[in-house]
Amino acid sequence: MTKFMPEPYKIKSVEPLTILNRKQRKESIEKAGYNTFLLDSKDIYIDLLTDSGTNAMSDRQWAGIMMGDEAYAGSRNFYHLQDTVLELFGFNHIVPTHQGRGAENLLSTICIQPGDYVPGNMYFTTTRYHQEVNGGIFRDVICSEAHEPDKNDVPFKGDIDLNKLQALIDEVGAEKIAYICVAVTVNLAGGQPVSMKNMKDVYALAQKHNILVMFDATRCVENACFIKEREEGYEDKSIKEIVLEMFSYGDGCTMSGKKDCLTNIGGFLCMNDDDLFERAKELVVVYEGMPSYGGMAGRDMEAMAIGLRESMDYNYISHRLSQVRFLGEMLIEAGVPVVKPIGGHAVFLDAKAFLDHIPQTQFPAQALAAAIYLESGVRTMERGIVSAGRDSEGNHHVPKLELVRITIPRRVYTYSHLEYVAEGVIALYKKRKQIKPLKFVYEPRMLRFFTSRFEEI
Ligand SMILES: *Cc1c(COP(=O)(O)O)cnc(C)c1O
Repeated sequence: MTKFMPEPYKIKSVEPLTILNRKQRKESIEKAGYNTFLLDSKDIYIDLLTDSGTNAMSDRQWAGIMMGDEAYAGSRNFYHLQDTVLELFGFNHIVPTHQGRGAENLLSTICIQPGDYVPGNMYFTTTRYHQEVNGGIFRDVICSEAHEPDKNDVPFKGDIDLNKLQALIDEVGAEKIAYICVAVTVNLAGGQPVSMKNMKDVYALAQKHNILVMFDATRCVENACFIKEREEGYEDKSIKEIVLEMFSYGDGCTMSGKKDCLTNIGGFLCMNDDDLFERAKELVVVYEGMPSYGGMAGRDMEAMAIGLRESMDYNYISHRLSQVRFLGEMLIEAGVPVVKPIGGHAVFLDAKAFLDHIPQTQFPAQALAAAIYLESGVRTMERGIVSAGRDSEGNHHVPKLELVRITIPRRVYTYSHLEYVAEGVIALYKKRKQIKPLKFVYEPRMLRFFTSRFEEI
């Protein structure tokens, strides 16, 4: 059998792709201030900026779109979504939101008192923002290996270090911990999964101290597939069974529907506690809408219910992980430095190693993402010092990982697209010394990576 089985779908509707010439690409990236977020979609050949909201929906989801019940209250699509999520995740309650960050806003507002700590397995940009804006203090308790891009022999690099967690409990006291945030998978560590054993152990420790465990469930299906492939005792379990067991080790979750729900918009918050649910429902009306739509159209809730169920199909999810691995292995073979092992939704280039002539304060990952666009028309994203932002004193957060994320949208591209992407990156690696460092010409105060502008030094 071939190592990489072909895509488990055939194409029913197509969107043409065009590529600008090099001169046009140079103009585009200069106009965008060397920030790939500011490029126009029409100027991009293959768009690997993000896997967020870029999913291709199935024929069944599109059929679901036509069954949208756009009643202001009590839409039947909400009940379908509710039944699906409660069945597949096993939590007691769901509150729909417009995106994952809508759910983060509700959770952080309800659960965090100023001065509380929120430990997590590395941070995510919007997640940490909502924690901090509510007065919370984020603490990274991920295992130390997660910060070593080259450490290949760790199957679950997203695991929480129980000693770090225990140390925080000893230091500040359990009552000062709002909740533990367990992200499955860990986006900024390179899409690295968390083991079932770790989730179980974290939950046991949390329960002993009466601390809530809230999952960031954004890529839970990818995480489940890694567990099936890597963790002893799970090889014969279905993805559905694994996801259900994962979430039995927690008290709720936030979810971005734009990732593993196979839709283009949406999110939700889940919890088991009745009291938290009441408070979330009071708040969702202020920020999102009625608790039976939470910022989503009826049709979007329908597509989400159908997509979440489809995502549990092993043929789908194993192919997705294979596509990412295919791209990663091509780069590794050519000697390009990438985060290992290859994660679930993206291949992460180690920009510090790729551009070792550029110091981190001159934004090597930002420069590399811009150079990849110029070289091949492919859009990727910086995940390094620019994304990390500044602390309250105004100094850069300096993350150990300085990465460029090459993210694969779900069901959108084929192996041949990824082959082209790899060839472009490899060509660039051979002439990497020509890539110049960058400096800010505009820097917004919050979530600066979205809109900041740079020029070459
Ligand atoms: C995308 C994402 C979020 C936020 O979700 P949105 O739908 O973009 O608001 C939260 N956590 C992780 C890990 C994510 O990747």
